[in-house]
Amino acid sequence: MDGKHSTSAAAGQDANAKEWKFSDLIADPVVRERWERVRRYFFLRESTYDMTRRCNIRCEGCYYFEGDKQHAAEVHDPMAWHALMRAERERGITYVVLAGAEPSLVPELLTVCFDEMPLGAIATNGIQRIPESVGYKIHISVWGNDDTSLRLRSAKHMLARQIDNYRGDPRAVFVYTFTPHNIVEAGQVTETVARQGCRLTFNMFSAPVGYTGTLRHTSQSLTRTRRAMLDLLARYPQNVIFSAYNAVAHTHRRGLHDLFGCSYPRCNPSTDIGLGRSFRQYRTDLNWDREAACCVPDTDCPDCRHYAAGSAVVTARLFRHACDPDRFNSWLDYVDTYLAVWVMDYAKGANLCQVPVPPPGFDL
Ligand code: SF4
Ligand code: SF4
Repeated sequence: MDGKHSTSAAAGQDANAKEWKFSDLIADPVVRERWERVRRYFFLRESTYDMTRRCNIRCEGCYYFEGDKQHAAEVHDPMAWHALMRAERERGITYVVLAGAEPSLVPELLTVCFDEMPLGAIATNGIQRIPESVGYKIHISVWGNDDTSLRLRSAKHMLARQIDNYRGDPRAVFVYTFTPHNIVEAGQVTETVARQGCRLTFNMFSAPVGYTGTLRHTSQSLTRTRRAMLDLLARYPQNVIFSAYNAVAHTHRRGLHDLFGCSYPRCNPSTDIGLGRSFRQYRTDLNWDREAACCVPDTDCPDCRHYAAGSAVVTARLFRHACDPDRFNSWLDYVDTYLAVWVMDYAKGANLCQVPVPPPGFDL
């Protein structure tokens, strides 16, 4: 990683005394190049789609099996999905997130979506390989080592099966979800994934509405998780797709909505601009409900630290971060991470800011 663009958080605070012009923030050629690179993707407009309500495992705390969406009928007709994707393109959607329950169980529908919409990602548990012809990013959920997966997900040898399915696959990103109980396992899992040449990013367990189990984070587990994320990022820079600011934003005691203001329709009444205007979350019956629309429906908003939520919520807050070099570079690192995780053929650059910087208006 390149350290020459990092300065201290304290320096960042001093810098607040000065009014920074945007042209000053991008004066450094490396920073300017990164800005030019990420802004080419500002055209991305996402929506998400539940492809099936079936899953081949059952995990504790799964938000899919909360609320109404699990009871929607399934549409199996490929022509109906073709028509939906065409209509989505026409209303300006350029990026699809195919989720579930478990999308790998309906590969023919994934192919239909890819034929109509070339950019997107699939959230899968990785037990069943998705055909190579579906050229989306594939996010493989990891909840701990194999003992933990057996306990929480009732699946045997999960990591070994996921790696066997996706080793050497440029689409694949393993997504390690931190709970209060698997923090110490993250080192072992990251080492295993890295040894196989795979790439990994980090997510946070975010409780579904009404969840009363033990996976909800506490202030202690947030602190320990942040430390673990930063340590693993430093130890495996080639394999861990993350940044210091990702760690800050997702392990802060305040959730993403408190820190940045969530722009998904569930939290955002505006129908004029941004996600409030364009985002829809389609259920398996191809209907959607504005009141419930966000990328992680039925998640408890105050506890939301989900990586998918952050990729939209933090990324949308350019102007708040364009206040001093540390914060702007941290935001660029966050967007660079988001693109490397979500967009095929986008390669992560070296992080510009190596130190944790507080979100605008908050402390660390
Ligand atoms: S694999 Fe995903 S959809 Fe299936 S139960 Fe687990 S969290 Fe839910
Ligand atoms: S759960 Fe997260 S992404 Fe969804 S509306 Fe709430 S804060 Fe936003």
